[in-house]
Amino acid sequence: MRSLQKATHQQTRLINQQLVLRTLYDQTAVSRAEVARLTGLTRTTVSDVVDGLLEAGLVEEMGPGQSTGGKAPILLRVPDDARHLVGIEVGDSSLAGAIVNLRGEVRRRVEVPLDGRDGEMALARLDGLIAELMEPAGPPILGIGVGTPGLIDTTTGTVQWAVNLDWRDLPLGERLRERWGLPVHVANDSHAAALGEHTFGGHAPGESMVVVKVGRGIGAGIVIGGQLYTGEGSGAGEIGHSAIADNYRPCRCGSVGCLETLASTRAVVQRARELAPHAPESALHESAKSDLIDLDELVRAFTAGDDLAREVVQDASRHLGRAIGSLIGTLSIHHVLLVGEMTRFGEPWLTAVRREAHRSALAILADATTVEIGRLGDDLVVLGAAALLMTRELGLALSR
Ligand SMILES: [Zn+2]
Repeated sequence: MRSLQKATHQQTRLINQQLVLRTLYDQTAVSRAEVARLTGLTRTTVSDVVDGLLEAGLVEEMGPGQSTGGKAPILLRVPDDARHLVGIEVGDSSLAGAIVNLRGEVRRRVEVPLDGRDGEMALARLDGLIAELMEPAGPPILGIGVGTPGLIDTTTGTVQWAVNLDWRDLPLGERLRERWGLPVHVANDSHAAALGEHTFGGHAPGESMVVVKVGRGIGAGIVIGGQLYTGEGSGAGEIGHSAIADNYRPCRCGSVGCLETLASTRAVVQRARELAPHAPESALHESAKSDLIDLDELVRAFTAGDDLAREVVQDASRHLGRAIGSLIGTLSIHHVLLVGEMTRFGEPWLTAVRREAHRSALAILADATTVEIGRLGDDLVVLGAAALLMTRELGLALSR
């Protein structure tokens, strides 16, 4: 009974601590009395909690504010760099990491190529990247957040399956926790992208959104009422491997006809390589002979108005639009944001995706929905991984 009471007491303390910290974080400068008013906690409780936060360096005193008659109250704030967060993106061909502060500002950034490494070799690169990021000593590190492709058990940080990296049932979270002695949180990269966009993209708090990440793979992150929805078993939004066509194109997941084989960057490059040798008028024809077409070249040809490039990308956008139309019907969430390398095809691609999404969803739902390109750039997954860490460890979310 006693230990139960003790546990409850500790829980209450933690809840109060997060509540006070969140209030201080949301305001730029605020007194203890104001925190008590905003949280509904007693002044004694607030003072106790603030003492602990001051000691931990999470909060600082800024000096006296405006007096309302008596002694001027001391104002408090959460310094932007009170803690630094390590955010990691495991990509298809490289690892990117950044040191991020509590406002999502990137303080340092490192990227290392994977050069085809997978399994243990990829893990060794990851450790090297983290070591490099943490090398110059700075503010205390809160922990490590990782966004990685694949099916992830977010409660333990275990990668159940990441096709490209040959990671199967890999206890990534546990390994990094043991190696670095820090809290570690791992999420699917599309889920992390959604959290990053929601937290740091300047959206309204509590806004619902679907963030569809279209790169070499395709996946969606769903935020409902400000919370990431991961589904039962964390697989929510795994739309890339839904078979949507009878084209029998083999997919890297082992199936055929997946959305990924039609609408990803990998798909458009492959399609261009197939068609260009038979299209002498295309700017891609020469490169096709030596198998040199890559995403950069396709983007260039597309931007220059090359017919073949246009056709390939339009085709991909139709398939993606259809998948998004079905998400609109399933979820009835009014904001759809597109992120990832495919967004390099810009406005014409977006317009085609929009048109098809609109055409394939119930009109009244489609009319209420906006489909746009996300507001954050290349650091989206890194920032999302940091946001995951900040929310899980401190109960903070920047969104406003
Ligand atoms: Zn597949």
